[in-house]
Amino acid sequence: MLNAEDIAQRVRAYQPSADLDLLRKAYAFAERAHEGQKRKSGEPYFVHPASVAGIITDLRLDHASVCAGLLHDVVEDTLATKKDIEREFGAEIAELVDGVTKLSQINFVSKEDKQAENFRKMVVAMSRDIRVLLVKLCDRVDNMRTMEHMKPEAQERIARETMEIYAPLANRLGIMKFKSELEDLSFKYLEPDGYAEVSEAVATTQKERDRYIADVVKTLSSRLAGQGFAADVSGRAKHLYSIWRKMKANQVGLEAVHDIIAFRILVESVSDCYATLGVVHSKWTPIPGRFKDYIALPKPNMYQSLHTTVIGPGRERIEIQIRTHEMHKVADAGIAAHWKYKERAAGGGGGNAGGVDASDEARFGWLRQLMQWQKDLKDPAEFLEGVKVDLFQDEVYVFTPKGEVRVFPRGATPIDFAYQIHSELGNRITGARVNGKIEPLRYKMRNGDVIEVMTSTTQQPSKDWLEFCATTSARSKIRNFLRTEQREKSLKLGKELLEREFARASISLPKLLKNDNELRHALEQLKIGNVEELFVSIGYGKLDPKAVVTTVAPPDPNGKDTPPASLKEGALEGLVRKVTKRDEGGIRLNGIDDVLVRYAKCCNPLPGDDILGFITRGRGVTIHRRGCTKAFDTDPERRVEISWDSKAKINRTVQLKVVTANRPGILANVSHTFSTQGINIAEANCRAGDDGRAVNVFTFMCSDLSQLKVVMKALQKVTGVVEVERA
Ligand code: MN
Repeated sequence: MLNAEDIAQRVRAYQPSADLDLLRKAYAFAERAHEGQKRKSGEPYFVHPASVAGIITDLRLDHASVCAGLLHDVVEDTLATKKDIEREFGAEIAELVDGVTKLSQINFVSKEDKQAENFRKMVVAMSRDIRVLLVKLCDRVDNMRTMEHMKPEAQERIARETMEIYAPLANRLGIMKFKSELEDLSFKYLEPDGYAEVSEAVATTQKERDRYIADVVKTLSSRLAGQGFAADVSGRAKHLYSIWRKMKANQVGLEAVHDIIAFRILVESVSDCYATLGVVHSKWTPIPGRFKDYIALPKPNMYQSLHTTVIGPGRERIEIQIRTHEMHKVADAGIAAHWKYKERAAGGGGGNAGGVDASDEARFGWLRQLMQWQKDLKDPAEFLEGVKVDLFQDEVYVFTPKGEVRVFPRGATPIDFAYQIHSELGNRITGARVNGKIEPLRYKMRNGDVIEVMTSTTQQPSKDWLEFCATTSARSKIRNFLRTEQREKSLKLGKELLEREFARASISLPKLLKNDNELRHALEQLKIGNVEELFVSIGYGKLDPKAVVTTVAPPDPNGKDTPPASLKEGALEGLVRKVTKRDEGGIRLNGIDDVLVRYAKCCNPLPGDDILGFITRGRGVTIHRRGCTKAFDTDPERRVEISWDSKAKINRTVQLKVVTANRPGILANVSHTFSTQGINIAEANCRAGDDGRAVNVFTFMCSDLSQLKVVMKALQKVTGVVEVERA
C-alpha cells in the first residue's frame, strides 16, 4: 500500500506548488475514518482509497484531486460528513468529494445504446468539475482491478456499467490507457469464455509474435537511424477486447497473429512523423485506403497520430502508428495531459507573491487548456459528442419510474416531464413524487431524480403553469389547452347571449344563420371572419350583442330608439376597440389576456382579495370579492375563475369605515395613523351619531390587501376607535 510520503513525493514531482501537508492530513484522516473496515478480500478498506490516490498521481492531477481520491469514500461509507471535509480541507476538496459521492449513487439500468449515451451525458453533467469525473474514473479503475472477491452478480453489474459508461467516457477524455484497461477487465467478467479464448490464443502465439516484433523493430530502427532520426520503435499485441471485437466482426478465429500487433514509432517532431512515414512506405508497400492522418485532423478527444497499414515481412499486413512523444503522452493520459503546472518561482521567496493563489492558477490553466482544446475541434457534431462539459451543464437528466433517462433543460419541472411523456399526463398532473417524496409542480428537477407523476381526472392546466415550465413543447401544449377550453366556453356563452338579445329584438337568430347573404353582410360590417368568431367575441366580452342586433336590423330612423350616431357605421369598430382595450391591468383570467375588466362597486376588490369573475354582457368581466352577496346572485354559468397577477402594480381606491367615540382629538389621531402608514386620505366623511359615536368613512389609494390589513390593525390600536371595517 502506498504510504502518505510516497503519494506526497509523486505529487511534488509534477506539481511543485502542491500543499503536501494537506495531502498527508487527508491520508491520515481517511485512514482513521475507514479504520476497522475491510474489503471483500480481507484487506483493510483504506487500501482502496490509497490506490485510487496513486492512480490519480499517474494522471498527474493536482493535489486537490489527490486529496479527493483519498477521501472519496469517506462521506458515503463512514460517519464523516461533507461539512467535516469542508472544515478540515476547504470547500474545493469538499465539492470534489461530494461530486464523486453523487456519481456513486447513480443507479444505472441501461438497456439500450441511446440510454447508455444519456447516462454518459448525465455523468459528465453531474461532474461540474472535470476533476470529479477523473477521480471517479480512477476509482473505477481500481475497483475493476480488484473485483475478484466480489459476488458474480456484482461483478457482472459493475463490469457492464464500466463497459457502457466508464470505458466510453475514458475514450472521450482521450485516456486510452484507461479505456483499454477498463474494456479488458469488463470483458473478462462479461464474457468469460470469449476472454479465455482470446487470451489463450494470444498467449500461445506469444513466442512467434515476439520474434516477428523483434524483426520489424530491428529493420525500422536501423533504417530510421540511418536517415538520422532519433526514433523509438516498439510493438505489442493490441488489447484483448479489441482483438475480440475484430474476430467477431470478421467472423474469423485468431489466425493472423500479425494482425493483432500495433507497432509504434515515437519521434521528436511533427515533421519527423511525416518523414518517418516516408521511410516506412519506401521499405514496405502501403495498403491503399488505410492511411489516416490524425495529426492534421485530430480526433475529438485530441488523439493525434499517423496510422498506416503496410505489407510487412512475410507478406503480412502490419499496422504502424507514428507520433511525437508529446502526442503519445496525450494519447495515454488524454485530457489529463493538458493539466499544466506553474513551475515554482526560482528562489522561492514570497510563495504566493502577486496575490494569485497557486491552486487557482492551476485551475485557470486547466480551464484555459480545456477551452483551447474545445476551440480546436473542427467538426461541431464531434464537438458536441466530445467532452463539452459546460454544455451539458444546461441540461438535467432524470429518471422515469422505469429507470429510463430523460433529458430536460435546466430549470425544468415535473410539468415538463409529464408533457414530454404524454400530453394527457401533462394536462392531468397535480404534483410529483421525486425520489419518493411529494413535491409541488414548481419543483426544479435535479440530476438523478426519479420522477413519478401524480394525476387527477379533475385537474386542468392553468395559466400559472406557463411560468414554471422550461420546455417550449410543454408551454405550447398548455397554451393550446387553455385556448381551446376558453374558446369553447366563450363560444357557448356568446351564442346564448346573442340568442337572448335577438329574441328581445324579435329577430330569429337561426333564421339569420340560415340566410347566407344577410349573414355575410352582417359579418362584413362587424369585420368578423365567421359565425364562430362572432360568438367567441361576444362570449369574451369584446363585442356587444346589441351591436350585432343593430347591424342586422338597423332601428327605424324615425323611431325613438335611434341609437346614438357613434354606434352607426364605422363607429362599431371603435366600440370594439374600446371594449378590447385593456385599461385595467393586474387581473388574470385563465387563457385570456385581452379582456376588459371592471371592479364591482358593491364589494370593491383589492389585490390579495379572493375574487371571482362574472362575464357581463358586452362589458367584459366584472370582478367581485368571493364573499360578496351580489356575486352570489350572478349566473353560475357566467362565472369564471380569475386571479390577481402577482407582478402587476395596481393602486385601487378603497374605503374604510372607522367608528370612534365622539370625543375631540380622536380624529386627529386617526388621520395621523394613516399618514404614518404612508397613506394619503383622498376623502373623509365624518358624521356624529346620537349614541355618542362618530362614523367616519375614509377614501384612499391602497396597493393590496396586506397594506390594507396593516392600516386596519394600526387604526384598531388608536384609543377611542371602536370598529374598523371595509366600506
Ligand atoms: Mn471507491
